[in-house]
Amino acid sequence: MEGKKNLKRSAKFFVNLALALQARLRLAINRSPKLLILTYHRVLPLDHPERKLEQPGMVVSPEVLNLHIQYMKRIGADIIHLDEWLDRKNHSSHLLKPLSVAFTFDDGWQDNFQYAYPVLKRERIPATVFLVTKLIDTPETFWPEKVIELLQDKSLNYDSPELQWLKPHLGQNTAILTEGLTVSPEDADPIIRSLKSLDDETILDNLMKTQSMNNSTEDTHARRAILSSAEIAEMAEDGQIKFGAHTRNHFRLNLLKSAAVLSDQIVGCLEDLRKLPSADIPIFCYPNGNESGASQDLVRRHYTAACTTRTGWNSIEHSDFALKRMNLHDGNSSSHIALLATIGRGLLGPKQL
Ligand SMILES: [Zn+2]
Repeated sequence: MEGKKNLKRSAKFFVNLALALQARLRLAINRSPKLLILTYHRVLPLDHPERKLEQPGMVVSPEVLNLHIQYMKRIGADIIHLDEWLDRKNHSSHLLKPLSVAFTFDDGWQDNFQYAYPVLKRERIPATVFLVTKLIDTPETFWPEKVIELLQDKSLNYDSPELQWLKPHLGQNTAILTEGLTVSPEDADPIIRSLKSLDDETILDNLMKTQSMNNSTEDTHARRAILSSAEIAEMAEDGQIKFGAHTRNHFRLNLLKSAAVLSDQIVGCLEDLRKLPSADIPIFCYPNGNESGASQDLVRRHYTAACTTRTGWNSIEHSDFALKRMNLHDGNSSSHIALLATIGRGLLGPKQL
């Protein structure tokens, strides 16, 4: 058993090494302008208690973020604002370096201000944060985090009518729950994936109904999860951090019930963004990467560009409305080899993050 595990581990190491070498080579020999867009979500120190309530693919430590910055500087990448790269691409592409890198952060987490901003400021790194505008200045968070918190409440009775909506999504975790064991974020991952078959409003309605039952004694909401407008204003002050749109409520746009809700999420978000005391840019970012024909049409009408969750880098021939990105977190990029392997995997072809 142990031997099999070791074999698997060394096979993974060699695959990663090959991917890393492939990426390093492609970065080195590339001559025509390319943009790598790096995507982050939460930035939390390794010992931060909120890591217990977060999906593993969502978090990077400030040290790993700094490792990425230092690596990009070392290989001579031009670290640039996303909107400025697009502007140059469309008006003066001769000014673009062979390799540019844009740092982006999705969702507008408060920890971006607390833990990422000091690193970005110290290293003078321009970055774009994609905001979910109706959550700013509220104590709210997103449904996956609420579901993890719910699953970690050992006092819940899964036979109660208020929890029947969740039961079909528990999969192999049913035993863990009935035996009262702690559900780790890793255990919760497949449950969250399964819940994505429901639309966001339905999940939020169900969570609201179960809220009164959630007797968790741990005060997990003592800390605000999302940025405040004062924090946004401070980050925007010298133009180093800019703010794009990530809808009003982070609803996945392919599952919406009406055209009015779709417009509210896409057009309304831009209206909110313009009222903020911030450096707003009309660039849209699709929540969860979910697009639809109607959402793409609206985005094209109201924005100048859009980020997807498709992986790869962007060349000057590439559409501004289908920007590819690389999703980075501690699990896939905490060393130079792991970072390059993730970039290498992303460059290989179409793959959802
Ligand atoms: Zn998001």
